[in-house]
Amino acid sequence: MRWIRTNSALKLDVVDLEENIRQDLEKGLQPFLVLATAGAVGTGVVDDLRSIGAVARKYDLWYHIDGAYGAPAAGLEELAGLFDGLADADSIALDPHKWFYAPLEAGCILVKDPGHMTDTFSYRPPYYRFENYEDAPGINFYEYGPQNSRGFRALKVWTGFQQAGRSGIQQMLRHDIAMAQLLFDLAQALPDFEAYMVSLSIVTFRYIPGSGMHDDVLNTLNEQIMLALQRSGQAFLTNAVVDGVFFLRACFVNFRTTADDVRALPGQIRTIAGSIGAKQ
Ligand SMILES: *Cc1c(COP(=O)(O)O)cnc(C)c1O
Repeated sequence: MRWIRTNSALKLDVVDLEENIRQDLEKGLQPFLVLATAGAVGTGVVDDLRSIGAVARKYDLWYHIDGAYGAPAAGLEELAGLFDGLADADSIALDPHKWFYAPLEAGCILVKDPGHMTDTFSYRPPYYRFENYEDAPGINFYEYGPQNSRGFRALKVWTGFQQAGRSGIQQMLRHDIAMAQLLFDLAQALPDFEAYMVSLSIVTFRYIPGSGMHDDVLNTLNEQIMLALQRSGQAFLTNAVVDGVFFLRACFVNFRTTADDVRALPGQIRTIAGSIGAKQ
């Protein structure tokens, strides 16, 4: 496995990707798969999907895109440019239990050519006899993946789609993205916060209560804030570490989160930071 560098925008560096492929080929190794991300876990960054797809095609590699979190946002017209090239993928992973609002758990993979799945997974032992059925069964899902007996996870996803519809889901996605933008703007405007990045509905930022504070001190402080905030039950932030810097990370995937919830967050963080300082 080759980990590919990211560029200054934190996107997979396509030059480094091709360089790694060439080096492997020179060594007599056989690259077969390239994996891009549409909505990175930490920052929400979407790779340059079109360019990576071109490299995958050039070297005849399977092209997989991890859109576990971010892929649903490809359904927003205003983000079409960001997701340009998504359709070049051979397979896309996406989690309806994330940004399609389904209850845990419902993972999903989209594959361009379903024949690849049946070629890989289909087996017809003597105790599965379909050949002599009068009306041959249309789709046997066990032939499309490693799982044989399986629950009807698709039902809750389908039900959600039926209830909200395309426009309802778009509305919820846009709401989450707007909440992320609001938090980013707040962090940018407040003197004791540093806004790092907003992409899709993920915001990364940190609390900087004074000037001249060293990154080590800020890392420790922000980690303590995150843990105390989680314990407090007021908000649930996680973290992203970029180049050794610990950022607080808000990922909005709940349509019930309101602008007032977001506006309350900086104050909650200050209060918690104050109580941490008091204990030391
Ligand atoms: C959440 C996530 C995963 C893991 O998905 P699970 O459903 O928890 O297995 C993988 N990749 C990305 C980009 C994710 O956001």
